[in-house]
This record gives sequence, structure tokens and C-alpha cells, in this order.
Amino acid sequence: MRIAIAGGSMAGLFSAALLRRAGHEVLVFERSRSGLEGRGAGLVAQEEVFVLLRTLGLDEVSRLGVVARERIALERSGAVIQRDPRPQMQVSWDHLYVAVRMLIDDEGYHLGQAVVAAGQDAKAAWLELGDGKHVEADLVIGADGIGSAVRRTMLPGDPGPTYAGYVAWRALVPEQLLPPSAADILSGRFAFFHMPGGQALGYTVAGAQGELEPGERRYNAVWYRRTVDLARTLTDTEGRTHPFSLAPGGVSAQARDALLVAARQLLPAAFADVFAAEPQPFAQAIFDMEAPRMADGRLALIGDAAFVARPHTAMGVAKAAGDAMALALAVERGWTPEARAAFEAERVQAGRAIVGYGRRLGASLA
Ligand SMILES: Cc1cc2nc3c(=O)[nH]c(=O)nc-3n(C[C@H](O)[C@H](O)[C@H](O)COP(=O)(O)OP(=O)(O)OC[C@H]3O[C@@H](n4cnc5c(N)ncnc54)[C@H](O)[C@@H]3O)c2cc1C
Repeated sequence: MRIAIAGGSMAGLFSAALLRRAGHEVLVFERSRSGLEGRGAGLVAQEEVFVLLRTLGLDEVSRLGVVARERIALERSGAVIQRDPRPQMQVSWDHLYVAVRMLIDDEGYHLGQAVVAAGQDAKAAWLELGDGKHVEADLVIGADGIGSAVRRTMLPGDPGPTYAGYVAWRALVPEQLLPPSAADILSGRFAFFHMPGGQALGYTVAGAQGELEPGERRYNAVWYRRTVDLARTLTDTEGRTHPFSLAPGGVSAQARDALLVAARQLLPAAFADVFAAEPQPFAQAIFDMEAPRMADGRLALIGDAAFVARPHTAMGVAKAAGDAMALALAVERGWTPEARAAFEAERVQAGRAIVGYGRRLGASLA
């Protein structure tokens, strides 16, 4: 089959790699011009990710990560009030991305190509690209994330994502930039701080090129804050309001200053130090989304284009892997109405369960 995929992050890459391996012609269209390397942090790998990596012959990637040797809870003064000696590994998002990306040749992976619409008739499906190109395929996969253009075409009346009422502020800092007092508390640990209507957490992740040696890694801090005026929070330095997130470089100096003042007032000093060490904090608003359908004729939705779960679940990548494997199986069965229905039934149920779990985990933050 000739298969066109919108979106070249985890869901798009996973399905491209599986479908190519099965002998299909696969074309991926990714909106980002520069590629996604170096932009991820860490992920908690789950069963689906291990199975997928084994299938792709990339077992070693799931063993490359940074281990947090224990979980600690801090109080506002910075004192450790709880310890849980439960080690957990954060697999490098960038390492995983690069390893799977290497399985797809450059003719199959197109950067700087935004999909603006999709469509289908009895004979073919297609993608319309921002530069006016029209790409025909036997099957079109929407793996284009929360704002999916393919979903808009496939589910025209669908309400899409619902804002959960809070925003994750993120800092991703080379570990050498942390002051020793913060590094002593945070490095190599999964640290939490709970406050009314908010939560901060952090952990050490690999460097931007997957570096794992102490001194070469990064510290990833997340601060969930209740936020009423979402449009203002997601307005960038040039006055443009973004629907879901502000990438590094998008937060104005004034908003960064306000974040740092609030961090000093409200967070343990070690977490405030991480945000102070980040010249370009970024923000990701938290949404829930459930697609009623994941397959319609020659169109399919997978990953965050279908279901968006809150990040507390740490299941976004595992969900993308599960979707990609189920979709590849349905294609192997000829993408018949029965195969499509089985894919949809299995993955809609999985997606609903994960989104529901995320709502429960985040209920106290909204
Ligand atoms: C740069 C980046 C870094 C991330 N880092 C982490 C991390 O460290 N830890 C973690 O757990 N999760 C991370 N995530 C999120 C995680 O990968 C996803 O939540 C999950 O894997 C689902 O992936 P997805 O491919 O369905 O959606 P997404 O990861 O949201 O990917 C959607 C992709 O589609 C592209 N796209 C969007 N619209 C269009 C369009 N119209 N045309 C073409 N392309 C389009 C986007 O640029 C993006 O690459 C990251 C995501 C990205 C994009």
C-alpha cells in the first residue's frame, strides 16, 4: 500500500517504521522545519514501548536512560518530608526519536511540510500540504497531534480538546547550570512538591544528544499552575496567541520575570533555582481529548491526534506505540472493514481509559 502520514513525532514515526518494515511505501509529512531532535526530555517507557522497540530491533534504546534512585517529596522550606526508594528510569525522548527516525530514509520523511487538510473518496485518500501539493495514498494516517488537521477533516463536528484549567511551565536545564545547593537535593532523584492548586516535579534526563554521563545531562522541571487567562499566558513575544503551548523562546521577558518571582514566593528554593537557570522557559497547557472514532474508510487517527491524556499518566508515548502496532496489524489484515473495526474498538477503549486516568490524577490541580 502507499501510505501518507501527517506528523513525524512518535506516533507518526512508530507507524512509519512498522509499515515500512512490512513492505509498504510510506511518506511522512512533518510541519517542523528544523526537525525534532534535541527538543524532548525523558519518558517512562511502558510495556507497549518495549514491545515496539523489540519489533523494530531497537531493544537497546529502552535500556538507555537516566535512573532516579528514589522519589522524594519536599516541603516549601526545602526539607525532604518523604522518601520512597523506588528507582525509575527516564528513557531519552531524543534518543528514541533519533533511533526510530534512522529506520526511515530521507525520501520518506519530509520536514517543513504542514498538512492543511485531508480527504478521501472511493478510490483514494489524500493530504493537502501548505505549499499547495496534493499527495494521494491508499491510506492516510493522522499522527499530527492535538491540533490535528486530519481529525478536523475526519470528524468535522468534533469539539476537540477541552482545557483542563492549568498549565505546565517547563524548564530543561544543563545540569552544570544548577547551583550546588539545588543539585545536591534534586540530581538523580524524582522530586515532588505539592501545593494548593499546583504541583512541581522534576528529574534528571539525558542530554540533548542522549548523553548519559553525569555533568552532561539535563534537569527537567515541571510546574503545574492553575491558570484562568489561558490566551494571555500563551501569547508569545510577537503578540501571537497560540492554542496549546509556547515553545522555548516564545515566553516574553515580562512573563518570565513574573514566573521567577512566583517561583521564589511559592516553590522550594531548589525548584525556583531550576527555573532561574532556564533562560527560555516554555509552557504547555493541559487538555483532555477523546475522539469518538479512529478509522473511517481510508483515514485513520493515532496518538495525540486521537486521544490527549494529561502528562501525569506518563503514557503518551506508550499510547502512541500501542496505536501504531494495532494500526500496523489492521493494515497487515488488509485494512478491511473488519480489521478497521477491530483496530478502532481496541484503541478507542485504551484511549478512553488513559484519558480518564489522567483526569483523576489531575483533579486536584484544576
Ligand atoms: C518536540 C517534542 C518533544 C516531546 N518531548 C516529550 C518528552 O520528553 N517526554 C514525553 O513523555 N513526551 C514528550 N513529547 C510528547 C509525546 O511525544 C507525545 O505526547 C506522544 O508521544 C504522542 O505523540 P504524537 O506523535 O501522537 O503527538 P505529538 O508528539 O504531539 O506530535 C505531533 C507531530 O505532528 C506535527 N504536526 C502537527 N500539526 C501538523 C500538521 N498540520 N502537518 C504536519 N505535521 C504536523 C507536530 O510538529 C509534531 O511533530 C514531545 C513531543 C514533541 C513534539
